[in-house]
Amino acid sequence: MSNLAAKPQEQVIGASRPASDNELIPSRDVPLGRWATMVRRTLPARHRSMVGAWCFVDHYGPDDIEGTPGMQVPPHPHTQLQTVSWLVEGEVLHRDSLGNTQLIEPGQLNLMTAGHGIAHSEESPADHTNRLHGVQLWVALHAADRDIAPSFDHLAQLPTFVDGPATATVIVGEMDGVKSAARLYSPLVAAEIDIRAAGKVSLPLNEEFEHGVITLDGEPEVDGARLGVGPMLYAAPGRRSMRVVAEAPARLLLLGGTLFDEQIVMWWNFVGPSHDAIVEARRAWEARERFGEVLGFQGERLPAPPLPMARLKPRNA
Ligand code: MN
Repeated sequence: MSNLAAKPQEQVIGASRPASDNELIPSRDVPLGRWATMVRRTLPARHRSMVGAWCFVDHYGPDDIEGTPGMQVPPHPHTQLQTVSWLVEGEVLHRDSLGNTQLIEPGQLNLMTAGHGIAHSEESPADHTNRLHGVQLWVALHAADRDIAPSFDHLAQLPTFVDGPATATVIVGEMDGVKSAARLYSPLVAAEIDIRAAGKVSLPLNEEFEHGVITLDGEPEVDGARLGVGPMLYAAPGRRSMRVVAEAPARLLLLGGTLFDEQIVMWWNFVGPSHDAIVEARRAWEARERFGEVLGFQGERLPAPPLPMARLKPRNA
């Protein structure tokens, strides 16, 4: 997925002050260019740019894409972040500048580590099914990891555990001793909680993590309050569990991680240690340097939008 805003704003991101209580982060609807859908974006939020190293959270669908091309995100670059693609319904074909072509289906993980730089496209395959529903998440890398070699991992099967009416799939990190093999560069977790019948579930949390929960389906009660599709419920570090009460089937996405104790800059599809690093990444993409070519996508690559005038500076730069 790409940030397809015509005039994206440069942002300094990093750990926000943990709230003393739960906090509701509203989602905003963002159009995704030629792909005629809206995504619900919760991170980065104005007052809370990250949850752990999670810096970008888009939830899309379920959309009826019968008779349409579906998702069509042309080749675009990334730096200093990982993209996490997770589907509830449908399928997406990933192609990248390392030469990987990989279809992802529900229950699988596509994890792309940009590091120094990679480009990719994401599209619904020509023979796609009729519904598309998923999330696209970004994990920021610390400045020390900004120049690691790019890589792509497809995990066809992920570990799960059952708790009453719920099945938890550990997408990245570890939950209740169940560990995903996904490669990570900071302590993180992502898990999908599929609650298949009315009931109560206690989600085990890592006390050292701050957490964010979004609802993918249904309208369960999370930590005592109804959480419909849209906003993210933020919970500060120090929690051992979170109670979920479902009166009907529901599906949640739990994200967490240790506070990201560094300030970095995010603009368009780039994360960097400084404004100048973003300017250089943009220049390299426009000059067809650094990122390589994505082969096989029918259509043009995404041009970088104009840079904003402001020169932002992380406080610790
Ligand atoms: Mn992308």
